[in-house]
Amino acid sequence: MPGKQQSRRTGGTSIYIAVALTILALGIVACILALTISGCHSDSGTPADVSFPNGSAASDPVISEAGESSSGASDGQTSDHESASPSSQAGEISLPEESHSDLPVLIEGQPASAMRFEESIGLRYQIDMNPYEQYVNPEDPMEYVFLVNPAHTLGSDYVPEDLVDCAYTRKDGRKMQQLRLYAEKALEAFMAEGALNGVTNVTVTSAYRSYSYQDYLFNHYVEQNMSKFKTRADCEKYVLTFSTKPGTSEHQSGLCCDMHNLSSAQQSFAKKPEAKWLAENCWRFGFILRYPEDKEEITKIIYEPWHFRFVGREAATEMHDLGMCLDEYCVYLGMYDQ
Ligand SMILES: [Zn+2]
Repeated sequence: MPGKQQSRRTGGTSIYIAVALTILALGIVACILALTISGCHSDSGTPADVSFPNGSAASDPVISEAGESSSGASDGQTSDHESASPSSQAGEISLPEESHSDLPVLIEGQPASAMRFEESIGLRYQIDMNPYEQYVNPEDPMEYVFLVNPAHTLGSDYVPEDLVDCAYTRKDGRKMQQLRLYAEKALEAFMAEGALNGVTNVTVTSAYRSYSYQDYLFNHYVEQNMSKFKTRADCEKYVLTFSTKPGTSEHQSGLCCDMHNLSSAQQSFAKKPEAKWLAENCWRFGFILRYPEDKEEITKIIYEPWHFRFVGREAATEMHDLGMCLDEYCVYLGMYDQ
C-alpha cells in the first residue's frame, strides 16, 4: 500500500509537473508568437517607420537618393540604405524634432533634397531649375539606368508608355521626334542652359525609334552597302559599326537622342565649341555621352559625339566622377556580370 500511495502521490506530482510544464510551454509559444507578429509588423510598415527616429517621416519626403547616395553608394543595394541613414544622423546631431518639415520646398511635391544635392557638389545653374529639377533628378534614380545593346535587347513589342514630343526636333520637315517624359524635360533644361552658353543651333535629328523602324533602317543600310561586300554577313558586320539591329538599339528606349548642328551626324561635330559644351555639361542635366571616344572597345560602338542618353543626374554624376561609360557603370553597380 505505501508503495501504491507513494506511486499515487508520485503520479499526482507528475500531473502537477506536467500541467506546470504545459503552462510554461504555452507561455513560451505565446511569447514567440507575439515577437513574430511584432517583427512582421515592422517589416510591413513603411520604411519611414523604421528609418526615422524622430517619428516624423511617415509623410515626409525621404531624403534624396540623388543627394546622398551619389557621394558613396558602391552598388544598388547600399544606395537605399545610405539614403535613409543620413537623416537619422541629422536627427541625432542637431536638427530639431520637426526639422524635416521645416526644409524649404523647391516646387510643390518636390523635397528640398535636390537643392541640398546641388549645394553639396557645388552645382550652379544659370537657368531656373525649379521646373526641371524633378525630371533631371528622378525619384527612383535607378529607373533609367540599364543597357540596351546586342547582349541586352528590347522586345519587338517594347514601346515606352510616356513618350512625348521633343521640343528640340530639327525643323526641316522631318517627323516630330519623341522622348520619354523625363528625358524630354531634362533635355529642355540642358538646351536652355546651353543657349546661355553659345549652344543655340543644336537640334535633335533622331530620338525614339520603334523596333520596326530600326529593322527598316538596318536593312536599308545593308542594301545600300551590299555592293562593297561578297556576302551579306560581311556587309552586316560593316553596318554594325555605325548602326544596330532591331531590339539592340538604345533609341528604342526613348531615353536617348542624336543632336548636332551639322547636316548629318559626323565625328567632326566634336570639334565644335557647342559639342564641347554639351559633352562637358551633360551630366549636370542627367545625360551622358553614351559612346565616348576612349570607350569604343567597351561599348563596341564608334565614338558618337552627337548621341546623348538620359540616365538621371545621380548616375550621370557618378559616371562623370568615376570616368565610366554606362557599360562599365552597370557592371560596377552589379547589375550585369560583364
Ligand atoms: Zn544615336
